[in-house]
Amino acid sequence: MNQTTKSCVIVGSGISGIAAAIRMRNKGYVVSVFEANAFPGGKLSTESNAGYRFDMGPSVLTMPEYVDELFVLSGKNPREYFNYIPLDPVYRYFFEDGTIVDGHHGKENYAMKMSEKMSDSKEAIVKYLNKTEEMYNLTEEVFLQNSLHKFKNFMTKRALKGILNFGKIGAFDTMNTANQKAFKDPRLVQILNRYSTYNGSSPYLAPATLNVISHLEIDKGAFYPIGGMRSITDSLVKLAKEIGVTFHFSTPVREILTENKKVKGVRTDNGNFNFDVVISNMDVYNSYLKLLPNAKKPEKTLNQPKSSSGIIFYWGIKHSFSQLGLHNILFSKNYEEEFDSIFSKKTVYNDPTIYVNITSKHTKSDAPAGCENWFAFINVPNNSGQNWDELVNQAREAMINKINRLLKTDIRSMIECELVLEPRSIEERTSSAFGAIYGNASNNKFAAFMRHPNFSKEIKGLYFCGGSVHPGPSIPLCLLSAKITSGLVS
Ligand SMILES: Cc1cc2nc3c(=O)[nH]c(=O)nc-3n(C[C@H](O)[C@H](O)[C@H](O)COP(=O)(O)OP(=O)(O)OC[C@H]3O[C@@H](n4cnc5c(N)ncnc54)[C@H](O)[C@@H]3O)c2cc1C
Repeated sequence: MNQTTKSCVIVGSGISGIAAAIRMRNKGYVVSVFEANAFPGGKLSTESNAGYRFDMGPSVLTMPEYVDELFVLSGKNPREYFNYIPLDPVYRYFFEDGTIVDGHHGKENYAMKMSEKMSDSKEAIVKYLNKTEEMYNLTEEVFLQNSLHKFKNFMTKRALKGILNFGKIGAFDTMNTANQKAFKDPRLVQILNRYSTYNGSSPYLAPATLNVISHLEIDKGAFYPIGGMRSITDSLVKLAKEIGVTFHFSTPVREILTENKKVKGVRTDNGNFNFDVVISNMDVYNSYLKLLPNAKKPEKTLNQPKSSSGIIFYWGIKHSFSQLGLHNILFSKNYEEEFDSIFSKKTVYNDPTIYVNITSKHTKSDAPAGCENWFAFINVPNNSGQNWDELVNQAREAMINKINRLLKTDIRSMIECELVLEPRSIEERTSSAFGAIYGNASNNKFAAFMRHPNFSKEIKGLYFCGGSVHPGPSIPLCLLSAKITSGLVS
């Protein structure tokens, strides 16, 4: 570890904030993390209720190598802190016409099993997955690995190859158009369109470039961390503390202090603290609004349309469902109408696609014997003042009815406890503007360029990391965000 006498503060201990703290400490900085909550992790946190444990946010882990990288960087063996298993199948999909199909790991395997239930051939599916792999390879360096806002990053051989092949990355079609061109079976199109929701966008608006997400999950693989998603946060906080990062919980930062266009430190309820570098892991919209009231604001970037949000019921279920796996999707009948409800009508759809995640399928201690811990999620609009008390009640009814219909059961009497998150409480818990889970939406082909950079163009020493800035949301991208940000600090 290098040693400097410089100090750095991280505002927020989301996954990206924790990763940035570890990276800055490895650069030799004296690092403090100020976190508003009494617990770390932001969206990647855990709660318990009546004998059930729930991961409150992310449930699907892709690219775990970016978690491992932080341990290796710190001279530790990741396997002594954090471990995970590959999933196969990854998802079980349920359709209203009675079709049940599993999404498997690996191109060949996925295509073979999918083609048994769909009217498209194995060859067509493999061809599609090869194409998404090619798109990923063309876009990874420019869009994911480096700052999009430093000219020199466009001058590498791989970046130039990506730029020269712009026509191949799907920027001119929507995801849905590209998927409809590739496949006859509307159910397969619906399965692949769903990847737009991984960054809170609509497949009918988002560019087909986002089809790369299917490559990451289907081909590179999805994983289950031993002990649940909370083990990512727990193990990284343990590592950060071991290498000397100091955490201050229940300590919201009230202001980022600046002088002559340079950061000076932060103000909390306990006073002012000087730091050489400030990295804000708080949602960038709220960072400007709440912490930098006098700074010049990049209005165009901040005012981009925001992503969808979610209503999540964390249910303790007094029953075990053999037909369900770890990740289950119960699809709506009309996907286009569902996304129109979310992004145009800005309300909850009456037949929403439901995601049911059950970690007790793998971690038995997450629920009492014979019971299951259900994380039942639907995509909803972000908060623009809707009547959420009413919409949550409507959503609960619609979800219970749909689950009962598709699983041929009656879960109403099986729900023995409930926690709920909805857009307002998501914002309260994590400071995500409007309760949008994924920052800006990616509903147009310029969205990637309109995310805020990882640094301030106006204030020296001020940086940003996390799902609301480049390269975007999800655990792997937030880990890359921390890597890019810390790489920009000298
Ligand atoms: C329901 C749900 C499901 C998801 N599913 C997946 C999934 O399956 N796979 C996946 O990869 N991703 C998923 N995501 C997205 C992923 O969780 C996020 O992109 C990622 O966790 C965001 O991390 P972050 O570092 O941006 O910080 P956040 O998690 O947003 O945390 C920010 C932290 O900063 C703190 N903070 C804010 N303001 C201040 C302040 N002024 N002072 C001090 N502290 C402050 C907050 O309290 C919070 O702890 C999901 C998210 C949700 C909500």
